[in-house]
Amino acid sequence: MLKYCNNERQLVELVSLYKNVYIFGMGETAQIISRRLKNYGVAFAGFCINNIAPDLSVDVYALDDVITSENSFFIIAGEKQIQDEIIAYFLKLNISAYVVVSDKLIRVMNRADKKLIKFQTHLVDHCNLNCRGCYHFSPLSKEKYVELDEFAKDFSRLSDLFDGKAEEIWLLGGEPLLHPEINECLEIARNSFPVGLIKVLTNGLLLNVIGEDFYDSLSENDVQLWVTKYPVEFDYEKAERRALQHHISIKYFNKEPVRELGHQPLDLNGKRNSVSNFYNCYRSDECVDLKHGKLFSCFIPAEIGPFNDYFNTNLFASDNDGIDIYSVQDADDLLSRLEKPISFCRYCNRNDVAVSGRFPWCRSEYNILEWTE
Ligand code: SF4
Ligand code: SF4
Repeated sequence: MLKYCNNERQLVELVSLYKNVYIFGMGETAQIISRRLKNYGVAFAGFCINNIAPDLSVDVYALDDVITSENSFFIIAGEKQIQDEIIAYFLKLNISAYVVVSDKLIRVMNRADKKLIKFQTHLVDHCNLNCRGCYHFSPLSKEKYVELDEFAKDFSRLSDLFDGKAEEIWLLGGEPLLHPEINECLEIARNSFPVGLIKVLTNGLLLNVIGEDFYDSLSENDVQLWVTKYPVEFDYEKAERRALQHHISIKYFNKEPVRELGHQPLDLNGKRNSVSNFYNCYRSDECVDLKHGKLFSCFIPAEIGPFNDYFNTNLFASDNDGIDIYSVQDADDLLSRLEKPISFCRYCNRNDVAVSGRFPWCRSEYNILEWTE
Protein backbone atom coordinates (compact mmCIF):
# COMPACT_ATOMS: atom_id res chain seq x y z
CA MET A 1 0.00 0.00 0.00
CA LEU A 2 1.13 3.55 -0.75
CA LYS A 3 2.93 4.97 2.30
CA TYR A 4 4.20 8.26 0.94
CA CYS A 5 2.07 10.57 -1.16
CA ASN A 6 3.24 13.33 -3.46
CA ASN A 7 0.03 14.23 -5.28
CA GLU A 8 -3.37 15.44 -4.14
CA ARG A 9 -5.41 13.34 -6.54
CA GLN A 10 -3.54 10.26 -5.51
CA LEU A 11 -4.24 11.10 -1.87
CA VAL A 12 -7.94 11.56 -2.60
CA GLU A 13 -8.12 8.22 -4.42
CA LEU A 14 -6.40 6.49 -1.55
CA VAL A 15 -8.46 7.89 1.32
CA SER A 16 -11.70 7.33 -0.60
CA LEU A 17 -11.18 3.61 0.03
CA TYR A 18 -11.67 4.06 3.77
CA LYS A 19 -14.66 4.74 5.93
CA ASN A 20 -12.98 6.57 8.81
CA VAL A 21 -10.21 8.87 7.69
CA TYR A 22 -8.35 10.81 10.39
CA ILE A 23 -5.71 13.47 10.00
CA PHE A 24 -3.08 12.96 12.65
CA GLY A 25 -2.46 16.40 14.16
CA MET A 26 -4.51 19.58 14.33
CA GLY A 27 -2.06 22.36 13.42
CA GLU A 28 -2.10 24.57 10.32
CA THR A 29 -0.92 21.77 8.02
CA ALA A 30 -3.68 19.45 9.22
CA GLN A 31 -6.24 22.21 8.64
CA ILE A 32 -5.00 22.75 5.09
CA ILE A 33 -5.25 19.03 4.32
CA SER A 34 -8.76 18.87 5.70
CA ARG A 35 -9.92 21.87 3.65
CA ARG A 36 -8.38 20.44 0.48
CA LEU A 37 -9.95 17.01 1.01
CA LYS A 38 -13.35 18.59 1.63
CA ASN A 39 -12.99 20.33 -1.75
CA TYR A 40 -12.97 16.89 -3.33
CA GLY A 41 -15.99 15.85 -1.33
CA VAL A 42 -13.98 13.50 0.90
CA ALA A 43 -15.75 13.05 4.21
CA PHE A 44 -13.09 12.65 6.83
CA ALA A 45 -13.87 11.57 10.35
CA GLY A 46 -11.81 14.26 12.05
CA PHE A 47 -8.46 15.20 13.48
CA CYS A 48 -6.79 12.90 15.88
CA ILE A 49 -4.01 13.49 18.36
CA ASN A 50 -2.15 11.57 20.94
CA ASN A 51 -3.40 12.99 24.18
CA ILE A 52 -6.58 14.94 24.22
CA ALA A 53 -7.91 17.46 26.69
CA PRO A 54 -11.61 16.81 27.45
CA ASP A 55 -12.77 20.29 26.46
CA LEU A 56 -11.40 20.19 22.90
CA SER A 57 -13.76 20.51 19.92
CA VAL A 58 -15.85 17.45 19.12
CA ASP A 59 -14.17 16.48 15.87
CA VAL A 60 -10.76 16.00 17.52
CA TYR A 61 -10.25 12.47 18.75
CA ALA A 62 -7.69 10.74 20.89
CA LEU A 63 -5.72 8.15 18.96
CA ASP A 64 -6.54 5.49 21.55
CA ASP A 65 -10.27 6.01 20.97
CA VAL A 66 -10.18 5.65 17.19
CA ILE A 67 -7.43 3.13 16.71
CA THR A 68 -9.90 0.28 16.75
CA SER A 69 -12.67 1.94 14.69
CA GLU A 70 -13.74 -0.03 11.70
CA ASN A 71 -11.85 0.67 8.46
CA SER A 72 -9.73 3.50 9.92
CA PHE A 73 -7.03 5.30 8.02
CA PHE A 74 -4.59 8.00 9.12
CA ILE A 75 -3.00 10.85 7.21
CA ILE A 76 0.33 12.03 8.62
CA ALA A 77 1.82 15.42 7.81
CA GLY A 78 4.50 17.61 9.30
CA GLU A 79 8.26 18.06 9.21
CA LYS A 80 10.37 15.04 8.28
CA GLN A 81 11.58 14.51 11.85
CA ILE A 82 8.03 14.61 13.23
CA GLN A 83 6.86 12.24 10.47
CA ASP A 84 9.54 9.74 11.44
CA GLU A 85 8.54 9.92 15.09
CA ILE A 86 4.86 9.41 14.28
CA ILE A 87 5.58 6.48 11.96
CA ALA A 88 7.70 4.84 14.65
CA TYR A 89 4.89 5.39 17.14
CA PHE A 90 2.27 3.94 14.73
CA LEU A 91 4.43 0.88 14.16
CA LYS A 92 4.67 0.39 17.91
CA LEU A 93 0.87 0.46 18.06
CA ASN A 94 0.60 -1.88 15.08
CA ILE A 95 -1.15 0.74 12.92
CA SER A 96 -0.37 0.05 9.28
CA ALA A 97 -3.19 1.95 7.53
CA TYR A 98 -1.60 5.35 7.10
CA VAL A 99 -0.04 7.59 4.50
CA VAL A 100 2.59 10.29 4.89
CA VAL A 101 1.95 13.49 2.96
CA SER A 102 5.19 14.71 1.37
CA ASP A 103 6.57 18.19 1.98
CA LYS A 104 6.09 18.92 -1.69
CA LEU A 105 2.41 18.01 -1.53
CA ILE A 106 1.94 20.19 1.55
CA ARG A 107 3.37 23.13 -0.38
CA VAL A 108 1.10 22.41 -3.37
CA MET A 109 -1.96 22.09 -1.11
CA ASN A 110 -1.06 25.28 0.73
CA ARG A 111 -0.90 27.21 -2.54
CA ALA A 112 -4.19 25.78 -3.75
CA ASP A 113 -5.80 26.54 -0.39
CA LYS A 114 -4.67 30.17 -0.56
CA LYS A 115 -5.33 30.41 -4.32
CA LEU A 116 -1.75 31.32 -5.08
CA ILE A 117 0.36 30.44 -8.09
CA LYS A 118 4.06 29.60 -8.24
CA PHE A 119 5.70 29.43 -11.62
CA GLN A 120 8.87 30.05 -13.56
CA THR A 121 9.39 31.38 -17.03
CA HIS A 122 12.31 31.82 -19.43
CA LEU A 123 13.18 35.39 -20.33
CA VAL A 124 15.86 33.97 -22.61
CA ASP A 125 16.23 30.40 -23.87
CA HIS A 126 19.96 30.42 -24.64
CA CYS A 127 22.81 30.94 -22.20
CA ASN A 128 26.33 32.37 -22.02
CA LEU A 129 27.69 29.47 -19.97
CA ASN A 130 26.39 26.28 -21.61
CA CYS A 131 26.78 23.71 -18.86
CA ARG A 132 26.90 20.01 -19.61
CA GLY A 133 23.43 18.45 -19.71
CA CYS A 134 21.65 21.69 -18.72
CA TYR A 135 18.13 20.73 -17.62
CA HIS A 136 16.73 23.72 -19.47
CA PHE A 137 18.38 22.65 -22.76
CA SER A 138 19.95 26.09 -23.06
CA PRO A 139 23.21 25.03 -24.76
CA LEU A 140 21.07 23.60 -27.56
CA SER A 141 18.90 26.67 -28.01
CA LYS A 142 19.19 29.25 -30.72
CA GLU A 143 19.32 32.88 -29.60
CA LYS A 144 15.82 33.41 -28.29
CA TYR A 145 14.26 36.10 -26.11
CA VAL A 146 10.73 36.31 -24.76
CA GLU A 147 8.74 38.99 -26.59
CA LEU A 148 7.48 41.77 -24.37
CA ASP A 149 3.95 41.80 -25.83
CA GLU A 150 3.50 38.10 -25.22
CA PHE A 151 5.10 38.33 -21.77
CA ALA A 152 2.78 41.19 -20.76
CA LYS A 153 -0.30 39.44 -22.14
CA ASP A 154 0.40 36.15 -20.37
CA PHE A 155 1.25 37.86 -17.08
CA SER A 156 -1.90 39.96 -17.28
CA ARG A 157 -4.02 36.82 -17.82
CA LEU A 158 -2.41 35.01 -14.88
CA SER A 159 -2.79 38.10 -12.74
CA ASP A 160 -6.52 38.21 -13.55
CA LEU A 161 -6.88 34.55 -12.64
CA PHE A 162 -5.00 34.88 -9.33
CA ASP A 163 -6.07 38.38 -8.40
CA GLY A 164 -2.49 39.64 -8.67
CA LYS A 165 -1.21 37.27 -5.99
CA ALA A 166 1.62 34.82 -6.45
CA GLU A 167 3.56 32.78 -3.99
CA GLU A 168 6.71 32.95 -6.10
CA ILE A 169 7.66 33.78 -9.68
CA TRP A 170 11.07 32.87 -11.06
CA LEU A 171 12.37 34.78 -14.09
CA LEU A 172 15.15 32.64 -15.52
CA GLY A 173 16.44 30.86 -18.61
CA GLY A 174 18.88 30.26 -20.15
CA GLU A 175 20.53 33.41 -18.94
CA PRO A 176 17.87 36.06 -18.23
CA LEU A 177 20.35 38.95 -18.04
CA LEU A 178 20.99 38.56 -21.77
CA HIS A 179 17.52 39.99 -22.42
CA PRO A 180 17.90 43.56 -23.71
CA GLU A 181 14.55 44.48 -22.15
CA ILE A 182 14.96 42.74 -18.82
CA ASN A 183 14.04 45.92 -16.90
CA GLU A 184 10.71 46.07 -18.71
CA CYS A 185 10.12 42.38 -17.91
CA LEU A 186 10.67 43.08 -14.20
CA GLU A 187 8.26 46.00 -14.31
CA ILE A 188 5.57 44.00 -16.10
CA ALA A 189 5.97 41.10 -13.68
CA ARG A 190 5.65 43.33 -10.61
CA ASN A 191 2.76 45.39 -11.99
CA SER A 192 0.92 42.16 -12.79
CA PHE A 193 1.64 40.62 -9.40
CA PRO A 194 1.76 43.29 -6.69
CA VAL A 195 1.67 40.52 -4.09
CA GLY A 196 4.31 37.80 -4.02
CA LEU A 197 8.01 37.08 -4.35
CA ILE A 198 9.55 37.72 -7.73
CA LYS A 199 13.07 36.42 -8.29
CA VAL A 200 15.59 36.60 -11.11
CA LEU A 201 17.86 33.59 -11.30
CA THR A 202 21.15 34.14 -13.10
CA ASN A 203 24.56 32.55 -13.46
CA GLY A 204 25.82 36.04 -12.57
CA LEU A 205 28.39 36.40 -15.35
CA LEU A 206 26.92 39.67 -16.59
CA LEU A 207 26.48 41.30 -13.20
CA ASN A 208 29.66 43.38 -13.48
CA VAL A 209 28.89 44.71 -16.96
CA ILE A 210 25.12 45.14 -16.98
CA GLY A 211 23.86 48.75 -16.73
CA GLU A 212 23.12 50.39 -13.40
CA ASP A 213 19.50 50.68 -14.50
CA PHE A 214 19.13 46.89 -14.04
CA TYR A 215 19.87 47.24 -10.32
CA ASP A 216 17.52 50.24 -10.14
CA SER A 217 14.82 48.15 -11.73
CA LEU A 218 15.34 45.30 -9.24
CA SER A 219 15.02 47.78 -6.42
CA GLU A 220 12.03 49.70 -7.81
CA ASN A 221 10.13 46.52 -8.59
CA ASP A 222 11.10 44.69 -5.42
CA VAL A 223 12.63 41.77 -7.32
CA GLN A 224 15.20 39.52 -5.64
CA LEU A 225 18.49 38.69 -7.35
CA TRP A 226 19.52 35.02 -7.02
CA VAL A 227 22.85 33.76 -8.33
CA THR A 228 24.11 30.25 -8.92
CA LYS A 229 27.88 30.19 -8.58
CA TYR A 230 29.86 28.16 -11.11
CA PRO A 231 33.57 27.30 -11.10
CA VAL A 232 34.48 30.06 -13.53
CA GLU A 233 36.57 33.17 -13.09
CA PHE A 234 34.28 35.85 -11.75
CA ASP A 235 34.56 38.67 -9.21
CA TYR A 236 31.52 38.00 -7.01
CA GLU A 237 32.58 40.63 -4.46
CA LYS A 238 32.55 43.34 -7.09
CA ALA A 239 29.04 42.28 -8.12
CA GLU A 240 27.94 42.37 -4.49
CA ARG A 241 29.31 45.90 -4.09
CA ARG A 242 27.52 47.09 -7.23
CA ALA A 243 24.27 45.56 -6.11
CA LEU A 244 24.58 47.01 -2.61
CA GLN A 245 24.88 50.53 -4.01
CA HIS A 246 21.29 50.01 -5.12
CA HIS A 247 20.27 48.37 -1.82
CA ILE A 248 20.17 44.94 -3.43
CA SER A 249 21.76 42.07 -1.61
CA ILE A 250 22.65 39.14 -3.85
CA LYS A 251 21.27 35.81 -2.70
CA TYR A 252 23.29 32.74 -3.58
CA PHE A 253 21.91 29.32 -4.26
CA ASN A 254 25.19 27.78 -3.28
CA LYS A 255 28.01 29.03 -1.06
CA GLU A 256 30.62 27.17 -3.07
CA PRO A 257 30.56 27.00 -6.88
CA VAL A 258 28.72 24.05 -8.43
CA ARG A 259 31.43 21.46 -8.94
CA GLU A 260 29.27 18.45 -9.65
CA LEU A 261 26.18 18.04 -11.76
CA GLY A 262 23.08 15.96 -11.19
CA HIS A 263 21.36 13.99 -13.90
CA GLN A 264 17.80 13.10 -14.84
CA PRO A 265 18.11 11.29 -18.14
CA LEU A 266 15.53 11.26 -20.88
CA ASP A 267 14.37 7.97 -22.37
CA LEU A 268 13.97 8.57 -26.08
CA ASN A 269 11.70 5.54 -26.47
CA GLY A 270 9.05 7.16 -24.31
CA LYS A 271 7.91 3.86 -22.84
CA ARG A 272 8.11 4.72 -19.14
CA ASN A 273 5.04 4.77 -16.93
CA SER A 274 3.95 8.39 -17.19
CA VAL A 275 1.46 8.22 -14.31
CA SER A 276 3.80 6.79 -11.73
CA ASN A 277 6.60 9.05 -12.98
CA PHE A 278 4.39 12.08 -12.50
CA TYR A 279 3.19 11.05 -9.07
CA ASN A 280 6.66 10.31 -7.82
CA CYS A 281 8.58 13.18 -9.34
CA TYR A 282 9.68 16.12 -7.20
CA ARG A 283 9.23 18.46 -10.18
CA SER A 284 5.60 17.70 -11.10
CA ASP A 285 3.30 20.56 -10.12
CA GLU A 286 6.23 22.15 -8.32
CA CYS A 287 8.37 23.42 -11.23
CA VAL A 288 5.44 24.93 -13.15
CA ASP A 289 6.63 26.66 -16.32
CA LEU A 290 4.96 29.35 -18.42
CA LYS A 291 5.65 29.08 -22.15
CA HIS A 292 3.75 30.79 -24.96
CA GLY A 293 0.43 31.16 -23.14
CA LYS A 294 0.53 27.71 -21.60
CA LEU A 295 1.38 26.51 -18.13
CA PHE A 296 3.17 23.18 -17.88
CA SER A 297 3.33 21.32 -14.57
CA CYS A 298 7.05 20.78 -15.22
CA PHE A 299 9.59 22.75 -17.27
CA ILE A 300 10.95 19.74 -19.19
CA PRO A 301 8.04 19.39 -21.68
CA ALA A 302 7.78 23.19 -21.87
CA GLU A 303 11.42 23.64 -22.82
CA ILE A 304 12.08 20.46 -24.83
CA GLY A 305 11.95 22.29 -28.20
CA PRO A 306 15.70 23.03 -28.57
CA PHE A 307 16.54 19.38 -27.71
CA ASN A 308 14.24 18.11 -30.47
CA ASP A 309 15.53 20.65 -32.97
CA TYR A 310 19.21 20.02 -32.22
CA PHE A 311 19.11 16.21 -32.18
CA ASN A 312 16.28 15.79 -34.66
CA THR A 313 14.14 13.90 -32.15
CA ASN A 314 10.43 14.17 -31.53
CA LEU A 315 9.81 14.01 -27.80
CA PHE A 316 6.26 15.10 -28.00
CA ALA A 317 4.37 17.20 -25.47
CA SER A 318 0.69 16.44 -26.13
CA ASP A 319 -1.94 19.18 -26.17
CA ASN A 320 -2.95 18.18 -22.67
CA ASP A 321 0.56 18.44 -21.26
CA GLY A 322 0.42 22.23 -21.35
CA ILE A 323 -2.67 24.09 -20.11
CA ASP A 324 -3.88 27.00 -22.20
CA ILE A 325 -4.18 29.79 -19.63
CA TYR A 326 -6.78 31.51 -21.82
CA SER A 327 -9.16 28.55 -21.89
CA VAL A 328 -9.34 27.75 -18.16
CA GLN A 329 -12.39 28.91 -16.25
CA ASP A 330 -10.67 30.18 -13.14
CA ALA A 331 -7.72 29.66 -10.80
CA ASP A 332 -9.20 26.47 -9.31
CA ASP A 333 -9.66 24.98 -12.76
CA LEU A 334 -6.05 25.79 -13.66
CA LEU A 335 -4.59 24.48 -10.40
CA SER A 336 -6.56 21.26 -10.54
CA ARG A 337 -5.44 20.63 -14.12
CA LEU A 338 -1.80 21.13 -13.11
CA GLU A 339 -2.19 18.21 -10.69
CA LYS A 340 -3.09 15.72 -13.42
CA PRO A 341 -0.43 13.36 -14.76
CA ILE A 342 0.96 14.36 -18.16
CA SER A 343 1.86 11.95 -20.91
CA PHE A 344 5.28 13.57 -21.45
CA CYS A 345 6.52 11.93 -18.24
CA ARG A 346 6.88 8.73 -20.29
CA TYR A 347 10.17 10.19 -21.57
CA CYS A 348 11.83 10.41 -18.16
CA ASN A 349 14.05 7.68 -16.84
CA ARG A 350 13.40 8.26 -13.16
CA ASN A 351 15.25 5.08 -12.19
CA ASP A 352 18.50 6.86 -12.83
CA VAL A 353 17.95 10.24 -11.21
CA ALA A 354 20.82 11.86 -9.33
CA VAL A 355 20.05 15.21 -7.78
CA SER A 356 23.79 15.97 -7.73
CA GLY A 357 27.20 14.34 -7.83
CA ARG A 358 26.88 12.44 -11.12
CA PHE A 359 29.43 14.38 -13.24
CA PRO A 360 32.07 17.02 -12.61
CA TRP A 361 30.83 20.39 -13.81
CA CYS A 362 32.03 21.24 -17.31
CA ARG A 363 30.74 22.89 -20.41
CA SER A 364 28.56 21.02 -22.85
CA GLU A 365 30.06 19.08 -25.71
CA TYR A 366 26.63 19.03 -27.36
CA ASN A 367 26.46 15.26 -27.13
CA ILE A 368 22.99 13.75 -26.79
CA LEU A 369 24.29 11.43 -24.06
CA GLU A 370 24.52 14.42 -21.72
CA TRP A 371 20.72 14.38 -21.64
CA THR A 372 20.02 10.70 -22.09
CA GLU A 373 22.40 8.16 -20.58
S1 SF4 B 1 24.04 28.51 -16.36
FE1 SF4 B 1 22.09 27.52 -15.96
S2 SF4 B 1 20.85 27.89 -17.78
FE2 SF4 B 1 22.99 28.33 -18.31
S3 SF4 B 1 23.67 26.41 -19.20
FE3 SF4 B 1 24.24 26.41 -17.02
S4 SF4 B 1 22.54 25.31 -16.03
FE4 SF4 B 1 21.84 25.94 -18.06
S1 SF4 C 1 8.47 15.32 -17.29
FE1 SF4 C 1 10.01 14.18 -16.10
S2 SF4 C 1 10.88 15.72 -14.71
FE2 SF4 C 1 8.93 16.52 -15.45
S3 SF4 C 1 7.37 15.88 -13.97
FE3 SF4 C 1 7.44 14.33 -15.57
S4 SF4 C 1 8.86 12.77 -14.78
FE4 SF4 C 1 9.23 14.66 -13.62
